[in-house]
Amino acid sequence: MSQESTSPTNFIRNIIDQDLASGKHSSVVTRFPPEPNGYLHIGHAKSICLNFGIGQDYQGQTNLRFDDTNPAKEDIDFVNSIKSDVEWLGFEWNGDIRYSSNYFQQIFDYAVELIKNGKAFVCELDAEQMREYRGTLKEPGVNSPWRDRSIEDNLDLFERMRKGEFKEGSHSLRLKIDMASPNINLRDPIIYRIRFIEHHQTGNEWCIYPMYDFTHCISDAIEGITHSLCTLEFEDHRPVYDWVIDNISIEVHPQQIEFSRLNLEYTVMSKRKLATLVEDKLVEGWDDPRMPTIAGMRRRGYTPASLVEFCKRIGVTKQENMIEMSALESCIREDLNTSAPRAMVVLNPIKVIIENYPEYQVEQLTAPNHPSDETMGTRQVPFTREVFIDAADFKEEANKKFKRLVLDKEVRLRNGYVIKALRCDKDSDGNVTTVYCSYDDETLGKNPSDGRKVKGVIHWVSASEGVPATVRLYDRLFTVPNPAAEEYFNEKLNPESLISVTTAIVEPSLVTAKAEMAYQFEREGYFCADSKESSPDALVFNRTVGLRDTWENNA
Ligand code: ATP
Ligand code: MG
Repeated sequence: MSQESTSPTNFIRNIIDQDLASGKHSSVVTRFPPEPNGYLHIGHAKSICLNFGIGQDYQGQTNLRFDDTNPAKEDIDFVNSIKSDVEWLGFEWNGDIRYSSNYFQQIFDYAVELIKNGKAFVCELDAEQMREYRGTLKEPGVNSPWRDRSIEDNLDLFERMRKGEFKEGSHSLRLKIDMASPNINLRDPIIYRIRFIEHHQTGNEWCIYPMYDFTHCISDAIEGITHSLCTLEFEDHRPVYDWVIDNISIEVHPQQIEFSRLNLEYTVMSKRKLATLVEDKLVEGWDDPRMPTIAGMRRRGYTPASLVEFCKRIGVTKQENMIEMSALESCIREDLNTSAPRAMVVLNPIKVIIENYPEYQVEQLTAPNHPSDETMGTRQVPFTREVFIDAADFKEEANKKFKRLVLDKEVRLRNGYVIKALRCDKDSDGNVTTVYCSYDDETLGKNPSDGRKVKGVIHWVSASEGVPATVRLYDRLFTVPNPAAEEYFNEKLNPESLISVTTAIVEPSLVTAKAEMAYQFEREGYFCADSKESSPDALVFNRTVGLRDTWENNA
């Protein structure tokens, strides 16, 4: 039952292989355990691909479990967005969705068991005293004065905490481990606190909630998780994980294994920081196409295949790392280069009038949807006497390197005829507004008959048949590679992370473009219709990524 797919191996898969070979386990059960306190980001995609990838490759199971122990920050909207992100990435969880809150009664019962065994106590230190007693990295902590209460008193007080007899913060349940441990997490950690907050799953059933360190290991054990994969910041919590499982009457002991988080340049990768951007309205929302959230990237035009491929390429290790944005961008570019149909869109139009072409004639030209994949078919592109080209594609004079339209020279209109520029009009600022041209009616789909060489090809859109659109050009959200290291990360937002181009003209076939369906706008990049704001009457396209990596040169 070893892995069958092409997934690259890693130290975690090596551990699993050994566990299967030694007979420690006969099958593999993993879980993805998001806290529903924000949208998932690309870092979570790494964890999803790791957990679900292992589940698939070892013919095991992967549970989706909401780690919902902090009702103050959680929300059913987040639950729903997380579910749809996991599905969109193409993964299927085992059985029903699970919630840590499903296990609140069992977790409570294990807490009672620990009290009965003299391994947990009700403490009445307040938050500030708790800090003082805890000690520091250099100084051991001091035992709570409440540590030696009788088991009867502890049972009674814990029951009364549950009944809501005490105020928030006045009582907590703590493990009795070791106040002198060099690992602060082992200094009698709190496992229950009082919160009079309604929970999105359990309503008002509980006014005490278990802490993460107590909940997570028990939930894993209840579900029979064999390998509990988490990020490195939990390494110091592993002794608590193991202590709890060893001290309660549960048979299974899942193995916690830590790996390094994904960090990506020019963005932030923490739900708390992303939440600030949303709350301070520095972005449009969690699914703003500039956000590194799965929902944002999806709206921007990233495909599930490109994100899965990215996670495969970055691999899984224990090394802290910072991945270049170009690694992500090349994954989507490679995917879309083969899958995205081509279309013509002029972002910054100037008019071309073809003087020898009949007025009012609309000629339907046939254009291939993909230059190297005939199976993607063709489409009709209307050609007319007046067309738009991009302002950057015309110069009155230029050297030979400029393979576009120049006065007295020829260029081919993509999928159409060869035209020659005769003269131009300019506005009072000297900007070209109109180029007057002639066309050679013998050049549709073939070279000029007299052997003239026409090297340049430019894109264009019919002036009368084209449709106006807003095109959003996205760039890095931040101006610095590691914004998280800044004192005020949100002061490093890139003011040019969104440029909204309102002058664009698109070919008519794009009016029916489906949201999230990717196109290559020839010579401009990869784009998709915005899933929230685009409609046939008011088209809005998002740039997913440019055709090549231009940022390195600009930086
Ligand atoms: P954040 O710090 O962004 O709030 P989190 O770790 O608190 O993230 P959870 O919802 O608790 O978010 O995470 C669910 C799972 O995803 C955990 O197992 C966590 O370790 C993993 N995870 C979170 N961020 C990353 C990341 N950047 N790279 C890899 N895995 C991650
Ligand atoms: Mg968390």
